[in-house]
Amino acid sequence: MTRANLAHRLHDAAEEAAHCTRCPLYRDATQVVFGEGPANAAIMLVGEQPGDKEDLAGQPFVGPAGQVLDRALAEAGLDRAACYVTNAVKHFKHEQRGKFRLHKQPTRGEIQACRWWLDRELEIVRPKLIVALGVTATSSLKGKPVVLSRVRRQILDIEPWRVLATTHPSAILRLRDSDEKEHAFRELVDDLRFALEFLKAP
Ligand code: SF4
Repeated sequence: MTRANLAHRLHDAAEEAAHCTRCPLYRDATQVVFGEGPANAAIMLVGEQPGDKEDLAGQPFVGPAGQVLDRALAEAGLDRAACYVTNAVKHFKHEQRGKFRLHKQPTRGEIQACRWWLDRELEIVRPKLIVALGVTATSSLKGKPVVLSRVRRQILDIEPWRVLATTHPSAILRLRDSDEKEHAFRELVDDLRFALEFLKAP
């Protein structure tokens, strides 16, 4: 199948997802945030769910966590434009606190419901490697809850996929201590370098 055909299939899937009611999260979100990037990307980055900025823009990883991710990718030598970037859950789950919409973690049921769309993306893109950013993405791909520290920086065989689990950039943003923050960022860069080495291996 040509890249244009694959891109067409992704476009159709995104249009369908815009009308998804498989779980309640569509009700309070502005719009679905489907993945974006080359339809034949060798690497797929999977985050948790869109945040406030992503919900408004309709694009994944365009807010503060996206900026951390972009910096880490650049330092690791990975080109974001060559990656397919998406989330395990496609609608923004939040609670309103005054003027602010605060992120809420999706439930296991919501993650399972939205696996339908992640599977559609995987079937079309068929990446050589999936980088799972955080515990929600890793649990979604494993199909069960995981302890991130036990699986981090390993190539997991989740047939038919190869998955590398790492931290979510927003977890770095939440750290208050600047040394801890820098350390966590370096760990993310090292994980992404490991991903690049895997991609280059014959
Ligand atoms: S979060 Fe996923 S499963 Fe739930 S309504 Fe949105 S697209 Fe559908």
